[in-house]
Amino acid sequence: MTTSSATLQNPIEYLKGVGPLKGDMLRKDLGIHHFEDLLYHFPLRHIDRTHINTIQQITPATDFVQLKGKITFHELIGQGRSKRLVAEFRDGTGVIELVWFQGANWVAKLLEKTALWMIYGKVSFFNGKPQMSHPELESVESMNASAKDFLEPVYPTTEKLKSRGLGGRQIGKLTQALIGQLSEKDIPENIPQLISEKLQLISRFQAFCHIHFPPDEAAYKQALRRLKFEELFIAQVRLNLIRVRRNRHARGILFDKVGELFNTFYKKYLPFALTGAQKRVLKEIRQDTAHGHQMNRLLQGDVGSGKTIVALLTMLMAADNGFQSCLMAPTEILATQHYNGLVELLKDLPIELRLLTGSTKAKQRREILAGLEQGSIHMVIGTHAVIEDKVVFNNLGIAIVDEQHRFGVAQRAKLWKKSVIPPHILVMTATPIPRTLAMTAYGDLDYSVIDELPPGRQPVATIHRTDIYRAKVMRFMRSEIDKGRQAYVIYPLIEESEKLSYEDLMQGYEQVKSYFPEHLYKISMVHGRMPAEQKQMNMQRFVTGDTQIMVSTTVIEVGVNVPNASVMVIESAEKFGLSQLHQLRGRVGRGAEKSYCVLLSSAKLSEEARQRLGIMCATNDGFKIAEKDLELRGPGDIEGTRQSGALNLKLADLVADAEILKVAKQLAADLVEADEKLENPAHATLRAFLVQSTGKTAWSKIS
Ligand code: ADP
Ligand code: MG
Repeated sequence: MTTSSATLQNPIEYLKGVGPLKGDMLRKDLGIHHFEDLLYHFPLRHIDRTHINTIQQITPATDFVQLKGKITFHELIGQGRSKRLVAEFRDGTGVIELVWFQGANWVAKLLEKTALWMIYGKVSFFNGKPQMSHPELESVESMNASAKDFLEPVYPTTEKLKSRGLGGRQIGKLTQALIGQLSEKDIPENIPQLISEKLQLISRFQAFCHIHFPPDEAAYKQALRRLKFEELFIAQVRLNLIRVRRNRHARGILFDKVGELFNTFYKKYLPFALTGAQKRVLKEIRQDTAHGHQMNRLLQGDVGSGKTIVALLTMLMAADNGFQSCLMAPTEILATQHYNGLVELLKDLPIELRLLTGSTKAKQRREILAGLEQGSIHMVIGTHAVIEDKVVFNNLGIAIVDEQHRFGVAQRAKLWKKSVIPPHILVMTATPIPRTLAMTAYGDLDYSVIDELPPGRQPVATIHRTDIYRAKVMRFMRSEIDKGRQAYVIYPLIEESEKLSYEDLMQGYEQVKSYFPEHLYKISMVHGRMPAEQKQMNMQRFVTGDTQIMVSTTVIEVGVNVPNASVMVIESAEKFGLSQLHQLRGRVGRGAEKSYCVLLSSAKLSEEARQRLGIMCATNDGFKIAEKDLELRGPGDIEGTRQSGALNLKLADLVADAEILKVAKQLAADLVEADEKLENPAHATLRAFLVQSTGKTAWSKIS
């Protein structure tokens, strides 16, 4: 069964006006392979053709204008790569310069043909004079021939395509030709009629016509509303189907008892009382695992909210029921720290616990692998190494993934195969994602949140200073260290291989050394280029308090726990994103001491960077920060959601369209709840649409 007609599945070169050459360009540059992709290549905006600006009206604040006039002069300048075409355009009220850097020859030829042009483009100012580069060009003569009764769409394209006859306007012509060939049956409904009626949505066919060629503004808005709703609704239906089916039908391992290990630990060895939120989450996990269905749960909790202990208690639950468990961390440092912490906590319990990472020695590795296969090892802590194909478990009951945003969906799927009955999965993340976004991005997972910090935590005092205060900041750091505390100095190293930032780090290290003479202070340094062993050793020296200062790149970003560290200085703080800054700051404020985070930046800051640093100083609440982050950057950039694959949104914006999202979510949940097999005839078109489009999204394969 297909929902889009055979026509829409045609290769793009078959469309009249495309052909093999342009077809190739559309495929390569815009990802348009089939007719259908062109239909989904939505315009950026529309121009009202009846509205013509004059050059006189242009001010530095002007962005896009449409002008009608003559090209009075044009000239090819320069050679080779710097070759460009410059032209003078006049409309009777003034003059504006036009420039083409690409396709200069081609455009020059075009300019010979006619005198009167309509041009459209973005104005910029150069030496105080208005200029337009790569404007859209159309001869007034040809425009008159095709009088239009719609607002003209402007499509996203590339400079390269523009210069090869595939500018926004040409794409519009192709789209117009395509839509001209289509009828209702090519673009059938996919939203149940009851819902369309209730929300007064226009038909799908009409929506596609009007999003490209709306007769007026109101029609465009209706089309946009319909298609945004469709996008969100379909995504939500998919996620609900996956979740409901898994919960109801996927056989899961039964943890039906809370036994001796759990109870003994809880009564005798738990170093503190659990917070209400931790207890609630444990209850949720217990409910999930006690009914024979597979658990797939996302646990979100701000940095320092105490997720590790929840993980440990869950692993004890597994052990009590005779199952193995594993805990995976994104870095070796973090895995090792988890391991050391858990070994200490479990030292008086009959639990075999091992660490397995990339640098585990061959002999030891062999022993661990054998122990896991035989079942003599109950718990394993590790990095990605744990999910390598070579690792075979005797009876893995639960896999816990810490700091989930570094683990892709595919890796989760790999875990499911580690056991005949898929193990329970708990993913923990401290990358705060606003709840609405989390539910959309990870809608196939159940969701728990630890929304309460352990008692007695003081917020980290955060200040922003420009570089010129560095000496003062270092003096402050020294006074804290002299009180017996430890400190982090963090340098940005976005790409571990970036040579420049590496040099920055080395210079930084020397600089820190100059403030902290070697005979008085000891410094650890950790960075991504360091051999694992050395990293490990330096980290360990800081953890044990042997060194007072940790100079590091963002490798310490997640999870590392040194409660005695009370100062963090972040160098070039403007280079970090909000969620990363928040993660970093979470490394301090873990003990009883008052903690400080100093954001050092250059004095020249973009408006956005200034806002980011301001937010950090204003709040410690990870969820608030995440909301702001979303506002500043948009959901596409929020760490973790991109990999989720579920957020493949073209039109809808999770913030701006929060209202539509809410409605779509509710309706989708109700629909799936009532008819999870989509057997109701009223859901036939929806079902057909899902069947046809499944497979285009990778995540659907692992349901
Ligand atoms: P995260 O959620 O960031 O992984 P951790 O699990 O590392 O947080 O916990 C942070 C610190 O808080 C640890 O030192 C841990 O021992 C401590 N902690 C966790 N839960 C509690 C609690 N209920 N009461 C007091 N301290 C706690
Ligand atoms: Mg943690």
